[in-house]
Amino acid sequence: AKERGEGGCQRYTAGMEARGAERNRRTAALRTAIMEDQMVVFFQPVVTLPEGRITGAEALVRWQHPTDGLVGPGAFIETAEQSGLIVPLGTWVLRAATREAATWPGEQTVSVNVSARQLREPGFPGVVAAALRDSGLPAHRLTVEITESVAVGGGATGENLQGLRDLGVRLSLDDFGTGASTLSLLATCPVHQIKLDRSFVPDAGGSDAIADAVAQMARAFAVQAVAEGVETAEQAARMAALGYDRAQGFYFARPMPAADMKARLNVAEAR
Ligand code: C2E
Ligand code: CA
Ligand code: CA
Ligand code: CA
Repeated sequence: AKERGEGGCQRYTAGMEARGAERNRRTAALRTAIMEDQMVVFFQPVVTLPEGRITGAEALVRWQHPTDGLVGPGAFIETAEQSGLIVPLGTWVLRAATREAATWPGEQTVSVNVSARQLREPGFPGVVAAALRDSGLPAHRLTVEITESVAVGGGATGENLQGLRDLGVRLSLDDFGTGASTLSLLATCPVHQIKLDRSFVPDAGGSDAIADAVAQMARAFAVQAVAEGVETAEQAARMAALGYDRAQGFYFARPMPAADMKARLNVAEAR
């Protein structure tokens, strides 16, 4: 029994080492990718409801892998978070997205995802201020998307959120409804916008009770309500009827390269 126990322990240790080595390999590959400029920013239009007019876009990072092709963030954001690489990667996305948005033909806004880890870093508002200054994008055209994990806070989170508000940047609570602290966070962390998580956008025949409740909450707090993951005309109509101001989703447009996004905006502006 003892031997078996030791053997089990060894196997467990070997497994842990293998996982550690795999993690190191992933981290090294990601670091190289960031250094060698293999990251690209895609943009997904955000539209008005019910008209469907483009008012801006969300910046979504992709990895243009030399052999694997275009890799989505689901495959590397966790590695970036665990290794701390999310900080330089996030800064890179912020700078690339603001630089691009500054070239758009109108007053459209750009939304950038910021991880809890970035938001804990002392001096984060300075990083944002530098990106705005260097790109020439006015602060009110940048929305910083945060998730409820910021409620855990720590580090400089509180003062950074205030620093961002002072800059005139807009704040959005992403994946709204998925965290336990949603309600208390709305009260303690004033934001300009909430984005209903796409899991609460009702499917055909499904209940819209949560989407309805969140829309009412948004009105009560006087924040803009965005419906994410809208895939059908029916969903768009239902979210509009519930009072959502904005929507994003495959029904309107998929995330696309910067050049395609700009071409769309130019067409829309010319109309
Ligand atoms: P998110 O911030 O909730 O972004 C929305 C995700 O939903 C995107 O996935 C988008 O492509 C997808 N989506 C949009 N419309 C639809 C739809 O109609 N149906 C469905 N099924 N999906 C839709 P993506 O680009 O794979 O990004 C996944 C997540 O990775 C993002 O979720 C965000 O949490 C994270 N992420 C992306 N870029 C960044 C970044 O620059 N920094 C950080 N920290 N996280 C990022
Ligand atoms: Ca987001
Ligand atoms: Ca989201
Ligand atoms: Ca759905």
